[in-house]
Formats: sequence, structure tokens, C-alpha cells
Amino acid sequence: MLTLHAIPDKLIIRARAVKIVPPRGHFVRSFMVLATTNSGWASNWLIAIVVIIALGVLFAINRWRTSLLLRQKQVLEVTVKQRTKELQEQKLLAEQSEKYKEQFLANMSHEIRTPMHAISGMTNILLRNEHPAHQDKLLKAIRESSDNLLVLLNDILDLSKIEAGKIDIESIPISPKEVIENVANVMRAKAEEKGLSLTYSVSSDVPTFIYGDPTRLGQIAINLIGNGIKFTETGTIHVAVAVVKNKLRVTVKDTGIGIVPQKLEKIFELFEQAENSTTRKYGGTGLGLSITRQLVEMQHGRIWVESESGVGSEFIFELPLFPVEQGKETRDRVSEGELKKMATDLAGIRILLVEDNEFNIMVATDDLNYYIHDLQLGFAKNGQEAIEKFNEGTWDVILMDIQMPVMNGYDAAKTIREQETMQQIEVRTPIIAMTASLLKSELSMCFEAGMNSYIPKPYKIEEFIGAIHGEIKKSGP
Ligand code: ADP
Repeated sequence: MLTLHAIPDKLIIRARAVKIVPPRGHFVRSFMVLATTNSGWASNWLIAIVVIIALGVLFAINRWRTSLLLRQKQVLEVTVKQRTKELQEQKLLAEQSEKYKEQFLANMSHEIRTPMHAISGMTNILLRNEHPAHQDKLLKAIRESSDNLLVLLNDILDLSKIEAGKIDIESIPISPKEVIENVANVMRAKAEEKGLSLTYSVSSDVPTFIYGDPTRLGQIAINLIGNGIKFTETGTIHVAVAVVKNKLRVTVKDTGIGIVPQKLEKIFELFEQAENSTTRKYGGTGLGLSITRQLVEMQHGRIWVESESGVGSEFIFELPLFPVEQGKETRDRVSEGELKKMATDLAGIRILLVEDNEFNIMVATDDLNYYIHDLQLGFAKNGQEAIEKFNEGTWDVILMDIQMPVMNGYDAAKTIREQETMQQIEVRTPIIAMTASLLKSELSMCFEAGMNSYIPKPYKIEEFIGAIHGEIKKSGP
């Protein structure tokens, strides 16, 4: 903007540049030119020159600002690009490390479960065979230790699965009474060893069948009852199942050491123990209650504790109650009588056991021969041998280990299915995976390879016989 001012004998030309400078603000340049008014054409020239210079300066400033903004824009673009690339790399790295973690867990789970399967399996064999009376206690101690180790391993796996959001909660008809009864029966021996009594009650308004997850309900109850036994020196652990305000409420009450008020909330956090001396005196990791709370919350329930130091504790959890209509309930738990009946049905069957681990072969052979009469058992030590044995004979069921040398279980199962298709065999031989890894990704690989079901290792005998029975029944006449 140009302004002219006349004062006696002088002409003042004021050039003012106003520009908006990002982000905000004013850019002001002022030029003041003095010229005399009484020198005729010369002063006109002077005015013109001054105006031209002023415009030139304005133009130069404008150019300079524009190029500055352009440079800033370019720098910004480069920075954004760089940052985006870095973020993409970091995301990739995080995804990769999640994959490695899962792989590591799968391997670790497998590596630990395999020898544990041998330990607990063989202890069971020794226990059910004749043995000197004084060894009974020792054998039971081995079994209990390996069971404890399995709980710990499952805890670690569960925790990482919860963290990765990979735990699925089932919703199938279950009998809450039966679940609690089973857990109490399993834990009673442990309580009695310490001179404690373990009792339970189920109030009459608890429905016979509700929708729920039997494994998770059992796991929660085992954790709470296990803690009750662990932290109680004398007295009772009582488990009560009831319906309160339309919710299933389970209470585990003990007469143990109790918990100080300031720790009542804290103990549900990861790695938290009420006292520092707890680990020294009672052992433990501080994982159990954290997992328990997460499992309860995943089922839309809540858990809390009421306790008095030195008197005892009462752990209470509530789950939404979904009763099953009469007639829709199915039972999937196997009693001892049912187990014997299933084993009788299997008399004379032909099983091909594909397994490379010598100890696992011993355990499975003993279990199968113990329960199934006139069993015809064939062996293969890897996938390649399994295919050969499959082509040589007729089998009612194939039990397939997964990780084996030469050829793994997935490839063997795939090849067997391909051969059946090529040879147009209509009735396919059931293949049951025997896997020490319980990761979902590995289990779905078993099904993708054409296997029919799986048995976890270490297995419970009813799972083992039940899975074989289930497949034979499906493929039978
Ligand atoms: P862990 O038992 O392996 O230490 P938990 O997460 O199961 O881990 O329990 C956390 C802590 O809560 C325990 O270390 C103990 O201090 C306290 N606690 C749990 N249950 C009881 C109980 N029934 N009586 C007294 N203290 C308990």
C-alpha cells in the first residue's frame, strides 16, 4: 500500500507491505522516502523510482516467502513419509514378534508337555500295576508334582493367550453341580493330605443344566479351591453353589491365613501376592488369581474376596445364568462306567499308532492294551512309515503324532487323504492327532490336513478312549 503525505516543502511517500505469514500474524514493512516538492520533473522521477524500488522490494519479499513456504512444505512431506515408513516398519516388527512369541509358545508347550506326558503316564502305569506298598506314596508324589507342573504350564499358556485375545469361551449345556463335584473330588485328596476337609453344597434352585464353559468353570474352581487348601493350615474349605439375583454364584470359603484389607484388590493383579513372604512359605507365582479374574470377566461375570486376616477368606464369583430348557441338555462328561463300556465296544479294533517318542509309545501301548481287549496295534515311527503301514494293512483308526522326524503328522495325514481320493476309497480311515500343542493355529492345521479330531498330550484316559470311541462310532455301520 502506498500513501503520500505532503508537509511543507516535503513529500512523504510511505510504502507499506502487509502479508499474512503462516500460521498467523502480520508482516509489515514500511519505507519512508523524503523528497522535496519544489524541484519539478526531477522530484517526479524520484517518486517514480522510489515507487518502483518499493514495488520491487515487495515482489522480492513475496518471492522469498513463497520459496520459504515451498521449502517448508517439502521438508514436511519428507518427514511425514519417513515417519510413515518408520511406523510401518515398527508395525511389521510387532507383528513378527507376536508370531515368534506364538511359535515359541507352541514349541515350549510341546517340549515340556512331551516329557511330562511320559512322567505322568508312566506313573499311572506303575500305580495301577502291582507295586510295593511303600512306593505308593512316592508314586503319588511324582504324579502330583507333574500335575502341578502342568497347571503352571497351562497358566503361562493361558496368560499369553488371554493377552493375545486368543481364548474362546464355550457356551454349551453343562451341569454346574457336576463340574463342582468333579473338581471337589479331584481336590479332596490334596485337602485331606493336609488334614483339611473339603465340602460342597449346591442349593436346590440351581438349574440342572446351564449354558457355560465346563473347562473354564472347572479351572476357576480349581484355582480358588487350590488356593484355599494352600493357605489353610487347619479347618475346612467349603464350596457353595447358589443362585443370587438371577446369577450363578460360587463361593469358596476357607479357614486359612486370611488377607489384610489393603491387599484385597491387589491380589487379583498379575504377579501380586499378599505378603512378600508368601512365595517363600507357600510357593506360587501370583498368576492364578489374575487369570481367574480374567476368565470370570470374559464370561461377563465378576469376582471379589471378603477376608479377615487370621480368620479366613471367602472368594465369590458370579456368572450370568442361562438355564438350558429341558430336553436340550447333552452330557459330554464320561464316568468310569461309561469309560469301561466304551472300551468294551472297542474290543478287537485295529489301531495304527504313529509316534516317534519311545516313552509316549510305552504309555499309549500300555493304556490301550489295558482298556481294549484283543487290540491289534501297529506302529510307525514317522509320517513316511505311517503311509507305508497305511498301504499295507487295514486300520480302524490312526493315532498320529505331529512333530516327527522324516515326515511330520500333517504331511502324512495329507498324503493318506490324497491316496484315499486317488484310490476312490469311500470310507476314510479316521485320523486322530495326538498333539502336545494346544494352540488353536496348530489344531486348525490338523483339521486342514484332513485329520478328524485330536487328543491332547498329556491326555486323561477318558479323553483318549473317548476320542477313539467317538471316531469309530462315526465311521462304523
Ligand atoms: P499364587 O497363589 O501363585 O501366589 P494367586 O494369584 O493365586 O497366586 O494368589 C495371589 C495371592 O493372593 C497369594 O500369593 C496369596 O497371598 C493371596 N491369596 C490367594 N488366595 C488366598 C486364600 N485363600 N487365603 C489367603 N491368601 C490368599
